[in-house]
Amino acid sequence: MTRFSGWNRYPVVDQPLHAARDRRDVLSFSTAGTGRVARGNGRSYGDAAIGVSETLSTLKLDRMKSFDAASGLLTAEAGVLLADIIATFLPRGFFPRVVPGTRFITLGGAIASDVHGKNHHHDGAFGNHVQDLLIVTPCGELVRASRSENAELFRATIGGQGLTGTIIEATLRLMPVETGWIRQRTIAASDLGEAMRTLEENDGATYSVAWIDCLARGAHLGRSLVFLGEHAKVEELEGGAPDKRFPKVAPPLLGVPFDFPSLALNKLSVRLFNEFYYRWGARRVGGPFQVDIDPYFFPLDGISNWNRIYGHRGFVQHQCVIPTERAASVLAEMLERITHWGSASFLAVLKKFGAASDGLLSFPQPGYTLALDFPMRPGLLEFLEELDKCVMEAGGRLYLAKDARQSQATFEAGYAQTVGVFRSLRQALDPVSHVKSRLAERLGL
Ligand SMILES: Cc1cc2nc3c(=O)[nH]c(=O)nc-3n(C[C@H](O)[C@H](O)[C@H](O)COP(=O)(O)OP(=O)(O)OC[C@H]3O[C@@H](n4cnc5c(N)ncnc54)[C@H](O)[C@@H]3O)c2cc1C
Repeated sequence: MTRFSGWNRYPVVDQPLHAARDRRDVLSFSTAGTGRVARGNGRSYGDAAIGVSETLSTLKLDRMKSFDAASGLLTAEAGVLLADIIATFLPRGFFPRVVPGTRFITLGGAIASDVHGKNHHHDGAFGNHVQDLLIVTPCGELVRASRSENAELFRATIGGQGLTGTIIEATLRLMPVETGWIRQRTIAASDLGEAMRTLEENDGATYSVAWIDCLARGAHLGRSLVFLGEHAKVEELEGGAPDKRFPKVAPPLLGVPFDFPSLALNKLSVRLFNEFYYRWGARRVGGPFQVDIDPYFFPLDGISNWNRIYGHRGFVQHQCVIPTERAASVLAEMLERITHWGSASFLAVLKKFGAASDGLLSFPQPGYTLALDFPMRPGLLEFLEELDKCVMEAGGRLYLAKDARQSQATFEAGYAQTVGVFRSLRQALDPVSHVKSRLAERLGL
């Protein structure tokens, strides 16, 4: 038995956690029992990467198999970390088209959650850049899937949270970049409306994201720092000696050596942090400033085990997307409710999404996505149901990779257009539920 959880440390389970060494292990694991699911690097928040009875780690499937510099096509096993792809290919002038807020995720996890980055409004989600997949289906068949071969399985696997079988290999397209630097501009927005207008007006920026001080109230509700970014070209490098084109990726500088006491993150400490961060950021408004890729895309990766800051009870993330026409009023209402509630979100991030993704259960749809982290405490789950109601009434949905607690009804309302097709496909692929995660059980998938 192993004790493990998602990154947010809620829920925690004790169950067998096997490690696949090669594809034969995946094949034999798949059919040897029921209620099992694949796991990548455990960076999802919740119970998506926890089997009902047993879980299979894919981290040892970590070989990169081929790369074609002319097309940017990389074929790699599913357990390869994005961090390793970046460390290997950035110095050669290639970068993944889509990266989330951490580089410590596997290729399989990126595909199964169809992760999005700060450029969704431009480039869509991770799955848009995946060419084909090699999957071990729940009944133990090895199947290749792409947009032209087993297309339905492909669509269901992108964003399918591991429920269509275990991805063992994928081919994705990396994009050429001239340098490993980002030219960042920072804009301070005094309230939510201004933050959304800023994102809208800068739709042409490749990357954009707003950090919200979600404790600001009244006229300043939703005050934010908006960060825009572009890949720097060689001629734009400041003091750019050619050997500085690709900065070294540094290992995390700091670690959190123990679980913080639950009281450490209270409304006062969160308020102080938000106040400090806003004032510090507001002093650096302007730009473009040259920053390297790591702090721009992966600021939290600088502190290993930062999830321990929330204490042993862990935390819950609530990430929703609200359709564009309702976003301003509904997000304002959600922020109001949070400021009036007895706790606070330590981190609140707002992004604009572009067109919906291909995947049947992919999260992104046109609108605004707001991600909030709350320390686990009595009353939190009930409060989050209030936020869920706001999301449901606005025709929005919650992100499965960040979900530990939504109800089946909330899920079905959010994914109403595709959940039926997904269920039928799963029923045909896996009538006896060889594959089933805790998330799938909770949401009736
Ligand atoms: C600091 C931080 C920032 C983040 N920022 C973002 C962000 O900006 N955007 C975003 O979209 N997400 C973000 N995430 C979430 C994260 O990118 C996703 O949860 C991702 O899926 C985690 O990958 P993983 O390898 O850790 O997979 P796990 O968490 O282990 O698993 C996630 C899902 O993938 C499935 N899976 C994993 N491997 C396979 C496989 N080989 N075959 C089939 N299914 C598999 C699992 O069953 C599970 O359903 C962030 C997470 C953290 C910790």
